[in-house]
Amino acid sequence: MEEARIDRIKKQLHSASYKLTPQREATVRVLLEHETDHLSAEDVYLLVKEKSPEIGLATVYRTLELLSELKVVDKINFGDGVYRYDLRQEGAAHFHHHLVCIECGAVDEIQEDLLENVEKVVESRWNFIIKDHRLTFHGICYRCQQKEKGNENEKNE
Ligand SMILES: [Zn+2]
Ligand SMILES: [Zn+2]
Ligand SMILES: [Zn+2]
Repeated sequence: MEEARIDRIKKQLHSASYKLTPQREATVRVLLEHETDHLSAEDVYLLVKEKSPEIGLATVYRTLELLSELKVVDKINFGDGVYRYDLRQEGAAHFHHHLVCIECGAVDEIQEDLLENVEKVVESRWNFIIKDHRLTFHGICYRCQQKEKGNENEKNE
């Protein structure tokens, strides 16, 4: 499955006149292996280096920028000033949403769009053609809620 995906990314690069060089492929593989993570350029670099120590940070950075230009990845910032690179779901018209936990910092994803009605209202009321959107919810994740419940139970014992 991963090979098929890499093949499709390769074709995407080719159609924009780029090659999937070994350095670029190493970077793409790390992104695929960490598909649900939200890695910074530095994170990606450290993971690429484990397998291909000869690749430098600048190369990884340029590859990430290229992939984001070609819309293979999306560049996001959760407000901490760090850009993270997130693989785009194949075939998804719009970018997925994020749930950012304000207690533990975990980032979960919502792959459904759920915004069709909002988009319709915005398009008609503001006469605006929506191409994409970024939606980040800030709150407390289910894991932290469980932990809190556990702590309360301990106190009551
Ligand atoms: Zn994401
Ligand atoms: Zn949408
Ligand atoms: Zn949490």
